[in-house]
Amino acid sequence: MTGDFQHVVLLAGGVGGARMAEGLARALPAGALTVIANVGDDEEFYGLRVCPDVDTLLYTLSDRIDRSQGWGVAYDTVKALDVLRDLGAPVWMKLGDADFGLHIWRSWRLAEGASLSAIVAEAARQWGARADIVPATDERVRTKLNTDEGWMDFQPWFVGRRCIPKVSELRYEGAESAKPAVSASAAIASADLIAFAPSNPLLSIEPILAIPGLRDSIEKCRAPRVGVSPLIGGKAVKGPLARLMQDLGIEATTRAVAGRYAGLLDGFIVDTGDVEDAEALRASGLAVAATEILMGGPEGAERLARELLAFAGKVAIAGERRRG
Ligand code: GDP
Ligand code: CA
Repeated sequence: MTGDFQHVVLLAGGVGGARMAEGLARALPAGALTVIANVGDDEEFYGLRVCPDVDTLLYTLSDRIDRSQGWGVAYDTVKALDVLRDLGAPVWMKLGDADFGLHIWRSWRLAEGASLSAIVAEAARQWGARADIVPATDERVRTKLNTDEGWMDFQPWFVGRRCIPKVSELRYEGAESAKPAVSASAAIASADLIAFAPSNPLLSIEPILAIPGLRDSIEKCRAPRVGVSPLIGGKAVKGPLARLMQDLGIEATTRAVAGRYAGLLDGFIVDTGDVEDAEALRASGLAVAATEILMGGPEGAERLARELLAFAGKVAIAGERRRG
């Protein structure tokens, strides 16, 4: 039994989320996958709206992605950024020329009155993306970090300062009052599986879950809910997760990541080496699968996706038995 899922929702951030999304899109029938994307990283540059996580998903699922770095457009150039630098503008955010095209188009469509979710759906359709991509909300949610240099916006901390300032507190400004995008709520309502990508829980998944309407619907949903750990042996595959957890006084372990999703998960997939975490999570009542969770390329991501679907099939059967 591999779980014959037809309506799968994936909660995702950027690079790790997009890898998992690509694997699931390859493993599932066409039209079965909806990715709900974090918008807490969104920022304005030069008057343009930039949505890094949504765009990494768009580029990955439409084969435009620069695979060597995991974000941005393949073979992109930086002539626009060179002009901006010559003119004295700050240029720490790496935006390529093709990438600028998307930001110009999105900002133009927003000014015309289109919603962010409609704009992203349009881009996904035009580019033949292999999944539906839905921003968590059409409203403004912004991740803010309190650091030893004071409160910072996300991109100046992450890209501008390369995550160096030590973080003592996180806020997802606007999330509390934000309504979910209509298409995000609809996808959860009809989901037969909810998956949590191995994205950064603090910077990618929790800004989604901080939107009360989304959290509630995932909490109440009857579909199995399974996640994949972003940590292997206490280390992030890439990015500042382990450091950030330590800064915030959270143990950098797979079980601490699952703990962030308490009440929202039925099963968790951990790395084969993380035996203690697997035992602790099982003892807490979660279904646990242990396998190689490093994805590498698209084939590796597809392999993990197939294992996730098989695992979710078993979790679903167990859940039905419990309820029956
Ligand atoms: P971002 O928004 O671009 O930072 O990307 P995400 O939040 O979606 O993903 C970042 C997380 O993905 C990091 O914490 C990584 O540890 C995790 N990650 C990246 N590649 C892999 C992988 O192959 N396997 C697993 N399990 N996690 C991964
Ligand atoms: Ca991100």
